[in-house]
Amino acid sequence: MFDIGRTLLAAAARDRSSLALVDGEQTLTYGELAELATRAVTLLDGLGLQAGDRLLVVMQNRIETALAYWATQLADVIFTPVNWRVKPGELDFFLRDSGARAIIHCGAAADAVAASELAGGLPTVAIDQGEAFLDRVSALPPAAGLPRASADRLSVLLYTSGTTGPGKGVPRSHQAERAAGLAHVAQNAYLSGEATLGIMPLYHTMGVRSLLAMALTNGLFVCQHKFDAGQSLELIARHRLTALYLVPTLYHDMLAHPSFAATDITSVRKLGFAGAPMTASLLARLDAAFSPDLFVNHYGSTEIYTFTTNRHAPKTPPSAGRAGINSEIRLVPLDADGVDDDVAIGEPGQIVARLSSDEAFSGYWYRPDADAKAIRDGWYLTGDVGYLDAEGNLFVTGRIDDMIISGGENILPTEIESVISLHPGVLDVVVVGQPDERLGQRVAAYVTAAGTVSPQELDAWCRQSDLADFKRPRDYVFVEELPKSPVGKILRRLLVAAE
Ligand code: AMP
Repeated sequence: MFDIGRTLLAAAARDRSSLALVDGEQTLTYGELAELATRAVTLLDGLGLQAGDRLLVVMQNRIETALAYWATQLADVIFTPVNWRVKPGELDFFLRDSGARAIIHCGAAADAVAASELAGGLPTVAIDQGEAFLDRVSALPPAAGLPRASADRLSVLLYTSGTTGPGKGVPRSHQAERAAGLAHVAQNAYLSGEATLGIMPLYHTMGVRSLLAMALTNGLFVCQHKFDAGQSLELIARHRLTALYLVPTLYHDMLAHPSFAATDITSVRKLGFAGAPMTASLLARLDAAFSPDLFVNHYGSTEIYTFTTNRHAPKTPPSAGRAGINSEIRLVPLDADGVDDDVAIGEPGQIVARLSSDEAFSGYWYRPDADAKAIRDGWYLTGDVGYLDAEGNLFVTGRIDDMIISGGENILPTEIESVISLHPGVLDVVVVGQPDERLGQRVAAYVTAAGTVSPQELDAWCRQSDLADFKRPRDYVFVEELPKSPVGKILRRLLVAAE
């Protein structure tokens, strides 16, 4: 199998003049990108990086970030990206945990790098504004003997955002990355010359795969440094983007933006989402707004890229579909320690995925404790709850940890959220369990409202729905904004703790 560096060289050989990257006024074709990346390897060599070393990348989604990615892939250096909003202490954790041998960062992370205890001892490349970095790289001689990695070598080390304590490193091989990229292309029916918005962070599984899927199809990745819904809409219209692959929150914010109605979004034919469930209301509103040719619910994770996909996401009831082309999934009893038994059709169970998937990692980065928790007899335990219908479609109902136990009943928030989200006065909603003397936990809904809507109206809405009575929220809290992680996932735990 090709390694990821070869993937870039092959894209350049296939069509040198196809546009690979746009960042503001800067553009690179595949030919130019491959040429620059071979010179950027000389820069990495100059930092003293050897095969298998980690380069810590603390960058927004810029053209230079993509260049650094491709250079590491050609050089057999492990691309180790982390959130550019990192605090100095966290940066020290990532440096220590990954054992990174060098750092590349942009201006947004300069203060954290300066204040980090460990960063000072490492070779560091600082990227400033403008074209200076690309000029600097193009003045270097090309490195010889590329690509240096074989498909079994490690390509990336991605950190999952730890909900408690620091994140875990997920090392992934070139082979797993390429299989994931190819699956992404197939599952989203990408054709050659696709153009996508490069806003999912390049330190997250979705961002890396967007970039890779574009190279596999000689497509265009339009860099957006950080999310701003109005700017995203401008980029969609200006570059006639054809495919979007985002977390639900970003879709939500684009739809809610005042300039949405006036933006020409007709070029967008393929919608995809992952990372979190999408409410029935948002699915319906996006379907109406874009009338896409296909609308993919991609259920997966950093550890194994694809669990399942559904190309008809807005069809109700909204399902995550069936196993991806490289995947096999099962549902095991929630209270089981092992993975021997399956739950019956319609019964909730923990979703487990076969670890021999071409797209899978093979264990966390020096975390035998995490391996022991997540891997059992060749299966990866997702920590997600779901059920299968009689046709074999998967419905993901939430995280085991998010389950609300109220009066002895197990309640998963997503079903309640979907019902409330359909009320016309509701922009967004998150349901959590909060401590209750009598019930143990009581169901509470945090709502951002589109206009004026009262708790009584929402309660009446739930009563006339199919929602079982014990699932009805007992409290409604109206908030300006829901807390979100840097990649745009809702942080339920902050609401549970009522922070
Ligand atoms: P991450 O590794 O950050 O991509 O997070 C993976 C987790 O996000 C999964 O285990 C699910 O809990 C959640 N997730 C990802 N995709 C979906 C989806 N399409 N629907 C529901 N939850 C999802």
